[in-house]
Amino acid sequence: MNIRPPKSRQARNAEWYSKNRKKAIAYSLKYYHDHREDVLAKRKTYVRANREKIQQGQKRFYQENREYLRVKSAEYRKINRKRIDEAERAYYHANKEKIKEYVRAHPEIQQRSSQKLHLSALALLGGKCSHCGETFSKILHINHINPFWERGKRPQTEMGTTLWRAVLKTQHPEKKYSILCGGCNWRLWQEQEKVRPIDPHRKPYIHAERCEILKRNALRCLVPEGGTLRCSDCDEDDFRFLTVNHFQKKWSRGERPISEHSAPLWRKILRERHPEKEYNVLCRACNWKRYFDQMKATYPGGNN
Ligand SMILES: [Zn+2]
Ligand SMILES: [Zn+2]
Repeated sequence: MNIRPPKSRQARNAEWYSKNRKKAIAYSLKYYHDHREDVLAKRKTYVRANREKIQQGQKRFYQENREYLRVKSAEYRKINRKRIDEAERAYYHANKEKIKEYVRAHPEIQQRSSQKLHLSALALLGGKCSHCGETFSKILHINHINPFWERGKRPQTEMGTTLWRAVLKTQHPEKKYSILCGGCNWRLWQEQEKVRPIDPHRKPYIHAERCEILKRNALRCLVPEGGTLRCSDCDEDDFRFLTVNHFQKKWSRGERPISEHSAPLWRKILRERHPEKEYNVLCRACNWKRYFDQMKATYPGGNN
């Protein structure tokens, strides 16, 4: 005679459940519908009393099954893309003011997500300037390897978060984009600008001539009598790229950055008695280099 050990209560229950699954589900659903208020109230008191325990359990479950959950949720989002988008849009429109108010009160949310995008796009491309090896992420720009006129694009169609998202979506981003620090980027732009064909769609700026005269007069005040207009750091002499450099950059002066540039700044220089003590002439690339040196001194080692 074959004697088997008795099954445990748990095993018996499991066996019964696997055989009568539909019945069990129907029964519990019926119970739920008949005692809905009761069940919900009980659940609520339980959740309230054991909030921490539940949260810890959820956390542990997430950590143990992280990879699986991520794959699953990506799959789910892919299949239900349209529905999720619609629901999110509807939620946004229904709670527009509330969301805007919340984001306004927590500016770090927006900052954090855009920083994350910037850093991950940079990491994908190697994380340093491809010309000079600079790694300070605050001043690293992402640059199209093919200039925009060769791609048949208008300048600045992609920048900021749009550009970073595009980098993250591209299959082989290193073939299309490179990282340049601000200084190297401006230097490259200056070199490209000299050889780039004139854009037929570009509308001439109506005050261009007046502005040029004003700028030329202001810059003249900053170089010695009879001297030529050129960058004090690198000898660049293309007038288009010459800028005014303030020895003391804006944050050290405690001023709003918008208060001084272009025409108002040029007029201010023309009014001053000894402007050469406060300003000099630099090309954009060299001006950027100085700006960045001060930035690095202000945020030592701080990456974003
Ligand atoms: Zn560089
Ligand atoms: Zn220069």
